[in-house]
Amino acid sequence: MLQTVFGYDAFRGQQAEIIETVVGGGDALVLMPTGAGKSLCYQVPALVREGTGVVVSPLIALMQDQVDALAALGVRAAFLNSSQRLDQRREVEAAYLAGELDLLYLAPERLNVPDTVRLLERGRIALFAIDEAHCVSSWGHDFRPDYLALAMLHDHWPDVPRIALTATATAATAAEIVTRLRLDDAAQFVASFDRPNIEYRIVAKDTPRAQLLTLLRAEHAGDAGIVYCLSRKSVEQTAAFLEKEGIPALPYHAGLDADVRATNQARFLREPGLVMVATIAFGMGIDKPDVRFVAHLDLPKSVEGYYQETGRAGRDGAPATAWLAYGLADVVSQRKFIDSSDGDAAHRRRLSAHLDAMLALCETVECRRVQLLAYFGQQAEPCGNCDTCTSPPQTWDGTVPAQKLLSAVWRLADRRQRYGAGHVIDILLGQTTDRVTQLGHTDLTVFGIGTELGADEWRGVVRQLLAQQLLAVADGYGTLMLTESSAAVLKGERTVALRREAPKAARSSSRKKSSAAETVALDAPGEAVFERLRAWRSVTAKEAGMPPYVIFHD
Ligand code: ADP
Ligand code: MG
Ligand code: ZN
Repeated sequence: MLQTVFGYDAFRGQQAEIIETVVGGGDALVLMPTGAGKSLCYQVPALVREGTGVVVSPLIALMQDQVDALAALGVRAAFLNSSQRLDQRREVEAAYLAGELDLLYLAPERLNVPDTVRLLERGRIALFAIDEAHCVSSWGHDFRPDYLALAMLHDHWPDVPRIALTATATAATAAEIVTRLRLDDAAQFVASFDRPNIEYRIVAKDTPRAQLLTLLRAEHAGDAGIVYCLSRKSVEQTAAFLEKEGIPALPYHAGLDADVRATNQARFLREPGLVMVATIAFGMGIDKPDVRFVAHLDLPKSVEGYYQETGRAGRDGAPATAWLAYGLADVVSQRKFIDSSDGDAAHRRRLSAHLDAMLALCETVECRRVQLLAYFGQQAEPCGNCDTCTSPPQTWDGTVPAQKLLSAVWRLADRRQRYGAGHVIDILLGQTTDRVTQLGHTDLTVFGIGTELGADEWRGVVRQLLAQQLLAVADGYGTLMLTESSAAVLKGERTVALRREAPKAARSSSRKKSSAAETVALDAPGEAVFERLRAWRSVTAKEAGMPPYVIFHD
């Protein structure tokens, strides 16, 4: 079947074992990264076994593509979903009952319709395949309530083998799939989740769109790629920005009309060199081999989501980049999201745990790949192909700055007050902003004790203390509070290693330029000052579209 129908030479990885299990009538749980070739694991058994292979898939938008691709190979495949007219559905049903279908794709909500169950009962089923099985996990990022009802397949058809497949592989998700789909007797197949050709890079967010543009121009000119943004608005703005800069980009989010989404998706798959700017609504099941980069302009909500999204890069095995820009504001907005999310306290705790794991990955001084795989319970050697491997971050003993910052938070808490990072940093730097003065914070003993670091460096300290859970964001306003672990640092019982931040090239050069101009103004006397200043000022004034003149105050 592999050679005659699909035209491939050999099975990959554990495909052969999985296929043997299902052909033999056994259940299987398959955990394999994106692009590993999960579809074949149910397509081949569906052809070998008598009857129709019923595939439950949440990817309605891709069903047509999949069925067309199978038809081109001579496989008799069809789908049933809400996008069809009644007569189209009737036709598919008749083909199924006549035993003329090798594969039948169903949207999960179809199986919640008694009519569908009755229909299936009247035909012959080779197997059930439950694709994207992590959708059954109620706290995953792709939860589909309709997946919960799939447990009934076991009761209705105890003798039909079931195969559940997903690219999400933490032990917790796997256990939840087993319980919720009643797959206790299923053989489990877990592939390595390493994607050695993907270079992971995580940078501090400064001017995210400009940073992205620099990356694309320097390393990915003309390449196809995906840019993930958290909000629809940001998707639109980023796509427009790239277009304006001459990089062909398309937007994709759930707020766009279905036909616009379908057109953009089809164009991305078929035309070379397009950049898809999308929310996480885009990408599940997409089989485009030559995606050369996946960029995140906002912090993903979990390591699992991040891994799935970045896994869409480099499916052809050629080098690809996974690039993420993240900053303090991301932590605050995620906290806001968690606080305002539906669900009970336990649900919010799990969301928080996801965020903490994501932060730890961002601030790690170890190999990103080692950290990522450890999250999936797999071991690896430092890869030599991620940012922390190629330019290992220097660490420094940040115990004293950590103590200063935590003290400031503690002193404020003493006054029953909480503030965000910006205000706390102003206090440490001894800035007499209106707010600092009005609130009387110049009286705090911690006022002005932190001038050894700049505001950017302090923001880095805050981010890393958050990642190490020595500090927490209290609410959606981003106010800071101590954690259980903070006390040990304050009492000097625990040291804090911090990552040295890479200098920000663009910003430091612009700073140098302006300070040079100031030096000229102050050093040279009289007429010379005037000439130098006018020359300097008229250039910048022209650039700014202002009349070229200089005002002297003294
Ligand atoms: P997944 O669902 O695991 O993300 P797919 O099933 O979409 O991956 O397969 C990814 C790609 O790999 C497809 O283009 C598929 O045709 C190809 N593929 C799968 N198995 C093999 C194989 N044994 N040999 C060659 N190519 C394969
Ligand atoms: Mg798949
Ligand atoms: Zn590495």
